[in-house]
Amino acid sequence: MQAPSLGGVQVPRGNGSTVVRLRHGASLNDFADKIDANPASLVTVLFHLGEMATATQSLDEDTFGTLAAELGYVIEMVSAEEEDRELLGTFDIDLEAEEAGESDDDLAARPPVVTVMGHVDHGKTKLLDAIRKSDVVAGEHGGITQHIGAYQITHEHEGVERAITFIDTPGHEAFTAMRARGAQVTDIAILVVAADDGVMPQTVEAVNHAQAAGVPIVVAVNKIDVEGANPAKVRQQLTEYNLVAEEYGGDTMFVDVAAKPGIGIDDLIEAVLLTADASLDLRANPSKDARGVAIEANLDKGRGSVATVLVQSGTLHVGDAIVAGTAHGRVRAMFDEHGNSVDAALPARPVQVLGLTSVPSAGDTFLVAPDDRTARQIAEKREAAERAATLAKRRKRISLEDFDSELKKGKVESLNLILKGDVSGAVEALEDALLKIDVGEEVELRVIHRGVGAITQNDVNLATVDSAVIIGFNVKYGERVEELAEREGVDVKFYSVIYQAIEDVEAALKGMLKPEYEEVQLGTAEIRQVFRSSKFGNIAGSVVRSGSIRRNAKARVLRGGTVVGDNLTIESLRREKDDVTEVREGFECGIGLGSFNDVVEGDTIETFEMREKPRV
Ligand code: GDP
Repeated sequence: MQAPSLGGVQVPRGNGSTVVRLRHGASLNDFADKIDANPASLVTVLFHLGEMATATQSLDEDTFGTLAAELGYVIEMVSAEEEDRELLGTFDIDLEAEEAGESDDDLAARPPVVTVMGHVDHGKTKLLDAIRKSDVVAGEHGGITQHIGAYQITHEHEGVERAITFIDTPGHEAFTAMRARGAQVTDIAILVVAADDGVMPQTVEAVNHAQAAGVPIVVAVNKIDVEGANPAKVRQQLTEYNLVAEEYGGDTMFVDVAAKPGIGIDDLIEAVLLTADASLDLRANPSKDARGVAIEANLDKGRGSVATVLVQSGTLHVGDAIVAGTAHGRVRAMFDEHGNSVDAALPARPVQVLGLTSVPSAGDTFLVAPDDRTARQIAEKREAAERAATLAKRRKRISLEDFDSELKKGKVESLNLILKGDVSGAVEALEDALLKIDVGEEVELRVIHRGVGAITQNDVNLATVDSAVIIGFNVKYGERVEELAEREGVDVKFYSVIYQAIEDVEAALKGMLKPEYEEVQLGTAEIRQVFRSSKFGNIAGSVVRSGSIRRNAKARVLRGGTVVGDNLTIESLRREKDDVTEVREGFECGIGLGSFNDVVEGDTIETFEMREKPRV
């Protein structure tokens, strides 16, 4: 059906519920394609709706929504996952069908994957160390234990040797960043609560994150060796968050531990296995192509891209062609957390993978492709989709009304940031947390570049162009970069605690905000009698009813509750015959409002000032 549209252009219209599916980062061209319209006419319609865009520009969901509503369509944005599924489908890879086709015989038990969360300083890192040391077969591994982002231990449970995988990046930031990318790697969360400190803000956050993800929690009540430790109080506090200890009739396991001296670690591991066995069906098919999630990645000088991946199903082999996020390549070598080389990695095994062409992000899913070429094509398509989506996000929407003023600069303020970190997990977590800072509409925070490794000349150059601040997390300057940054006047800040970085950025953002003013009432006066003066105009003989009346204060006149004069100033103020600067409550005075003469007996004069509102 053709019908005249805004601006007289002809556009095929929907019936009000015609659904158009668009991927993230789509442009008017894509939309036009779907509804068989001329892209130029969509540009015109959008223009009449107060939005300016070119046909090839990526638009966000809101803009498409407005346009679609006007034309009788309903927009459905295809999620990144769906998009990925569609993309893989074109390569004949159907992960869901594959899973649905698996029978009980195909599935084998796999180790649980555990994340340690809790408030800062409650002992997460120490606990991860203690658990690592408790490994019954650690001695046999040989090699030097190194941080690869996750490790696996073996524990004897009811006569059976059981493996458990621990994500070695404590805290819920990484957990959340991964979830935000649609990756769920954690089966069980250990919530660490220091018995001498009790439930703290990040304890609550961690509980919320785990519960939102539907991940069962085992509580490790830590530091029971410290004087003043009160494990019972922790149990009692946590009941408020639906974590009721078994001994109180609930179903959450609480274990008293002391990570530093290594007390109760075995019991904690037992509790993890018992919780896994009681509430989870942890099985995966080991005999198929592997897939899983990248947990951490960095660029190594000698070895190139080094990514730790967690296999979630199938078995990963050296020689496999893989795609991880937008990185691809062939698995050249794999190493475990002891630096030993590994030929095959089964479900729930974390391994360091060498051979990727670039560094994936934490939380990126990986899968094995039939061959190198397919791996590359999937990676390229994902990259294109990601780029388009980023562009759409970045586009600042400008309506016609404020287009002009917006152009006159100063109105749109943004703080541009470049984030560099030692591992991609940290960078992701930092970006995620920073973008969550809420400072209202006036100030915008943009992360214009992020990456792993030292701060380079390139970063500084980029910061110069976009007037950005560089944030380095656990990284240093590259060679001769410091001089360049100083010369160019680029602000570079270094941190090793995420919270500090977030606090600083938040403060900076608040400082950048234009001050907000609020009206504060100073005093009111009731007019008793009006004196006419040829020299000063009308003088309101008044009595001050509240506060005080000051000369030069801003004022308005009210009659029966309505404002009859606004934007006035107390131009003259007298007591008896004397000019005064202030008259207090209960006293009589003569008030002159300059050229404003419309005052009658019974009116109220209200005075006020504008005060800067502190940001909270
Ligand atoms: P995180 O911030 O949660 O990773 O906490 P850390 O593992 O870094 O521990 C914070 C501090 O508490 C460190 O000084 C640890 O030595 C100390 N700590 C951790 N666990 C225990 C414990 O069981 N007993 C005692 N006395 N101190 C502990």
